[in-house]
Formats: sequence, C-alpha cells, structure tokens
Amino acid sequence: MLVTISTTHVPATDLGYLLHKHPGRVQDFTQSFGVATVFYPEATGERCTVALLLDVDPIRLARERAKNSPDFSLAQYVNDRSYAASSLLGVALADVFSTARAGRCAHRQELADSAIPLEITIPVLPCRGGADVAHRVFEPLGWQVEAEPIALDEAFPEWGDSRYIRLRLAGVVRLADALNQLYVLLPVLDEFKHYWQGPDEVDKLLRSGDGWLADHPAKTLIARRYLGRHRGLAHVALARLAELGDEVEDAAEAGEEEIAQQEDGRVPLNAQRHEAVCQALLDLGAKSVIDLGCGPGQFLERLVSTPAFTRIAGCDVSARSLRNAARRLRLDRMSERQSARIELFQGALTYEDPRFGGFDAAVLMEVVEHIDPPRLQALERVIFGAAKPGAVIVTTPNSAYNVRYEGLTGMRHPDHRFEWDRAQFAQWSDRVAAAYGYRAERSGIGDADEVLGTATQMAIFTRGGCP
Ligand code: SAH
Repeated sequence: MLVTISTTHVPATDLGYLLHKHPGRVQDFTQSFGVATVFYPEATGERCTVALLLDVDPIRLARERAKNSPDFSLAQYVNDRSYAASSLLGVALADVFSTARAGRCAHRQELADSAIPLEITIPVLPCRGGADVAHRVFEPLGWQVEAEPIALDEAFPEWGDSRYIRLRLAGVVRLADALNQLYVLLPVLDEFKHYWQGPDEVDKLLRSGDGWLADHPAKTLIARRYLGRHRGLAHVALARLAELGDEVEDAAEAGEEEIAQQEDGRVPLNAQRHEAVCQALLDLGAKSVIDLGCGPGQFLERLVSTPAFTRIAGCDVSARSLRNAARRLRLDRMSERQSARIELFQGALTYEDPRFGGFDAAVLMEVVEHIDPPRLQALERVIFGAAKPGAVIVTTPNSAYNVRYEGLTGMRHPDHRFEWDRAQFAQWSDRVAAAYGYRAERSGIGDADEVLGTATQMAIFTRGGCP
C-alpha cells in the first residue's frame, strides 16, 4: 500500500526539510506490522513528491492482533491489509513523520507553520459508505477531493463497485494538519480496526484533531468511527470536543447510524459559557473588552455581534489560532468601521505587554488551566498587577464534575496542566483578588449537580477591594 504527498511550493525540495527525510535517500522504518519505506519519486525545485510504501507482513500483523485482541478468526489471516491503505498506513505515517506531524521543523519553521499547496494520492483505500463519505470528511478541511470507486472486477462491470476508492486530495494546507488528518481519517474511512482502543485513544484523537476537528461538520461521524466499537469513548470525545468547538452540527448526520451529540436538545456547554460571560460583561457595563487566550475566536465572534462592545481585542500565543480567528471573523471582508473596532495580536500572558492595558474588562475563558503552575503567578502579575482592567472574568473546569464524563480518566483536555475543584478555585481567586485590589465573586456555568457543582466555574473580579 502506498501514499504519495507532493508539493509545488518553490523550492519544492524543502519538503525534505519539512519531513526530516532527505530527498536523495531511500529509507526503511520497521513497524510492528511490517516495513515502511520512504523515497522520493521526483524532487525538483518546482515539484517534489514523497512516497511512503508500506509492506505489511500478514503473519506479524496476526501475531500483534492476537496479543491485543481476544477474538481469533480467519479474517486475521485472510484480509486486505497488505493491499489497501488503512489505519495501518495512518500509524506508519504518524511514526515515520512524527516531527512533521507535531508541526516542528528546525530549519524551516515558518514553512512548517504555513499552508502550502499539497497533493495526496492513495491508489487503494477502503471506504465504508462509499465515495461520498470521503467527500464529507475531507472537503470541509479545504481539500478538493477526487474519490473514484474501484470496480470489483473490471472484467465483470455488472458486478458493480468494490468498497475501495482511489483518492486524490489537493489543497493549500499546513503539512502537519494534512498528516494529522490522514492519521485520523484513514481509520475513519476504513471499516476494519487493527488496534484495541483504550481511554487514551480519546486523547490521541483530540491531539491529532487539534485545530480542525472541533469545528468539523462531520465530527460526530469522525469520533464515532475513529473510536470504533466503544460507544462510551465516542461520547467522551464529543463532550470534550464540545468544550473546544462551536457546535455546528451537520444536518445530514441526523437520522444516520451516528447519534448527534446534543441528542437531548440541551445547549452545549461552550455556548452556555459564551452566554454567561457575555451577560456578565453587559452587566458590568463594559464597552472595551480583551479576550486573553482567545483561541480560534468563537467568543470574539460573539463579542463582535454585540453592539454594546465598541472596542474588542483578542490575544493568543498561538499564531495558528489567531489566523483561524481572523478567518472566522472574516476580518478581510469587514467594513473599515467594523474592523476599526477589533484588533487581534499575538502575545504571551506571562509577559508584561502594554497592549493588554486600557480595557474595561478582560476575559480569561478556559485559559488558566493551560498555564504551567509555576508560571501562573507571572500571569497574575501581568494581568491583575500591570494591565489592571476594570474587571476580569475567569472561567475554568470544575474538576469534581469530571466523574460525570463517562470513561474520562485524566483531565478534560490533553493540554490542561491542572484542573481545580471549587475549593481550589475559591482559594486561588480570593488570594489573587486580595493581592491586587479586586473583589472576586464566583458562580457556576452548566447543569448543576447537587453534590459536584457545575461543569464550568466562573469568577468575576471587580476592582474595589483593598490592595
Ligand atoms: N478562550 C478560548 C480558548 C481556550 S483554549 C475558548 O474559551 O474557547 C486556551 C487558549 O489559551 C489556547 O488558544 C492557547 O493557545 C492559549 N494560551 C495558552 N497559554 C497561553 C499563554 N501563555 N499566553 C497566551 N495564550 C495562551
């Protein structure tokens, strides 16, 4: 089985730097189920193509499988694994190009951060549900998709199509995103799961889906298929994605095998969070607001659509999140008057920055838990001590509520450095308020459990306490 990735970004041979594989060499990488060979069928300044050829050893695969799975069947020995692209190819890609998948490139970091023209071909790919599913999962990510069904037997056209397709994707995409998308979406299209799924599969899915899965219109289908037989895990993944994404559900999902995650009709948690924080800002009478750690800009969108806010700023440490925020807000298509209302900038909350100053209110929505505990005091000093907005609104998960997420073993998101229960949050917010002359008032967001409290906790800091 084979996948090729080409670019026409000039000089195209920079693909070698991005992938950390020299275009002049053929290299083998041993996998537990076979050997992956990387080589470049073409490498010129105008166009460069890397190929990953995976030679699956069915005997080794069967042994691996026997170790990991209790079921034994003939299918372990008689299957398409050696001939069709599948989750195994995704695993090999992830292993061989692990640094590129993490978006790191010592020699060409700017290029690794940029979307570049890419073309991906997979000659034989099992695709459950037909070619339409390939369109549904890849097109919303900006790919032009050609998914050509492969006939069962060319000699007997009346037999119809097989469940395999020839896939060609073309788009302008960051290479790390493309690799992560293949890693997740190859097993989604495939109907045969080679591995056992444990609770860390949810973390893997969220990590690989960073920046593209939470807003994907077919995320329910993707999470359910990726996590396979284990329905509980798909629920956990969707609940955690709901924390990150903006909940646009694909209408086409309804009525299918996949159950939309808000099947009970409740308002998703992050929408409740946006509502609560927006209301709190209005109650405070804030006109100028800065969203610190704004991520891809869902809450900024809410602020922009509220006329009471006349000056809006969004700041994040991640350039990628800011690009997504600019795209979401359609900054390039805004009237001059509108765009004068809003500014986006890159900055770190642990370093003093004059751009943080001069706002009626600052929002730290689901941000503090991403800061390493030893750096948290720096953030406190920078925001409460130096920037000194009139009010600060902080939201963060209530760790006690996590037992309500079935199957969740660790924290709600792989990047969380800590999660506080209500007592810990109260202690932190009271200490910070007292140190910097604010008063802290706490409340909850989301459905309240009598014993555990709500999923999200919020503190509103207003100035006026004794410094
Ligand atoms: N506020 C958004 C995003 C929360 S995710 C929301 O509620 O949806 C946390 C965000 O904080 C990420 O976008 C991350 O890039 C950002 N972040 C983490 N550490 C940061 C730091 N030190 N400085 C600025 N932003 C940071």
